[in-house]
Amino acid sequence: MIPQRLSWLLQPDGVPMQLAGLFSEAGHAFYLVGGSMRDALLNRPHFDLDFTTDATPADIKMIVGDWADAVFTVGEAFGTIGVVRDGHTHEVTTFRSEVYRPDSRKPYVVFSDDLETDLSRRDFTVNSIALRLPDPEVVDPFGGLGDLSAGVLRTPLAPEISFSDDPLRMLRLFRFMAGLGFDPDPATLEALIGMADRLSIVSAERLRDELSKLMTAPAPGRALMGLVRTGLADQIIPELTELEMAQDPVHRHKDVLAHTIAVVDKTDARLELRLAALLHDIGKPATRQFSEAGATFHHHEVVGARMARQRLRELRYPKRVVDDVTQLVFLHLRPHTFKMGWTDSAVRRYVRDAGHLLEDLNQLVRCDVTTGNRARAREIQHGIDELEERIALLREKEHLDSLRPPINGNDVMSFLGIPPGPQVGEVMDLLTEHRIEEGPYEPAEAYRLVREWALQQGMGDPGERS
Ligand code: ATP
Ligand code: MG
Repeated sequence: MIPQRLSWLLQPDGVPMQLAGLFSEAGHAFYLVGGSMRDALLNRPHFDLDFTTDATPADIKMIVGDWADAVFTVGEAFGTIGVVRDGHTHEVTTFRSEVYRPDSRKPYVVFSDDLETDLSRRDFTVNSIALRLPDPEVVDPFGGLGDLSAGVLRTPLAPEISFSDDPLRMLRLFRFMAGLGFDPDPATLEALIGMADRLSIVSAERLRDELSKLMTAPAPGRALMGLVRTGLADQIIPELTELEMAQDPVHRHKDVLAHTIAVVDKTDARLELRLAALLHDIGKPATRQFSEAGATFHHHEVVGARMARQRLRELRYPKRVVDDVTQLVFLHLRPHTFKMGWTDSAVRRYVRDAGHLLEDLNQLVRCDVTTGNRARAREIQHGIDELEERIALLREKEHLDSLRPPINGNDVMSFLGIPPGPQVGEVMDLLTEHRIEEGPYEPAEAYRLVREWALQQGMGDPGERS
């Protein structure tokens, strides 16, 4: 019996049946597997499909050659051929009995002619269900269907074997916990706790990719708490574990870890914003000081920004992500420093420093409020509402997004008769500073400032040259 929700996979003119026809004509077995089978069963179909077959990678290329719009071979050493058709990339992988990834001591793959062996080497039972095609039959040797309906993550073979074959699977468990809302089976979790330090052999790139998927799931909170509780976080972002200790006994602040996780769950699922939420308070343990008034964390945003940059670099995030997250962490307290109200120049400076991150920053600041004190929470939200209104008002009056002075570097060079160099930069900084402090001004005012600067430098009066 094929469940009704799989019927779209059996359309004669659909990708699965067309490919299955080609493989069976060539005398090969062909199955839908992995995440696409799991998600189809969960009624969350996606269009990039995973298949497995007893055909070798060379055979796969031959079989799909005419049908595919393009073929990718980057994964060929591990048995995977990418098949592009109508804008979607499907993956067809030869049955495998062993896969040692590039970061294990001996990277290699052993192909197999047996589906069940292939399924046993997959990460979780819910990802080890296959759909035979073109003559449809569900193949489920490890109880994946039961685990799927119970929402359980369990390894097909003993978890100790599975996790030592590829420790990344331990992180994938939390990634699926976040993405699917499932829970680990107790024996699987117990094995994981004992082996958490094995994650240290996995490359930063593979950790990063799973972490990113975890962080952009609808609600990663539970999985993040699990990472810390099992000790896995120590292998990825050890700073998280430290947050649990940064409590404030005097005011009984919620511990910083629980707060951090609440903030992450509140933010929209954009990678940079979520990473910033995760890291926004990591400077707290290092800056904590006790005074009579309770704990203080002076400059934790400065220390935290530095720590965030370092951690994200070690995880090999692209420079753009590292810069954006670091800047969000660095600025996350800025709106609180204007309790007396915002001057125009403070608003301009905020917009300039936030740049393209303005929206994310405002959201981070709003989500950072997890106090149970309603009046205090409302006060902070009002403060940000007000700031956003001020930005909108100022934007109507002036070009807030390009806080450029009325003359440019070329004007400065010809006025002063100097070549390009640090002096020009210094003058432009001064003119930009004036733009932020005073708002828009005329070129004549700019030349007056440049002349003043030149006289101070002992350069002679540029007004007398011509
Ligand atoms: P998603 O829907 O997020 O892509 P997925 O389950 O498809 O999730 P992929 O990383 O795309 O995950 O992998 C596809 C399939 O390959 C998995 O469902 C699983 O069967 C298998 N797999 C992937 N990585 C591993 C691994 N490290 N160890 C064992 N099996 C794996
Ligand atoms: Mg996938």
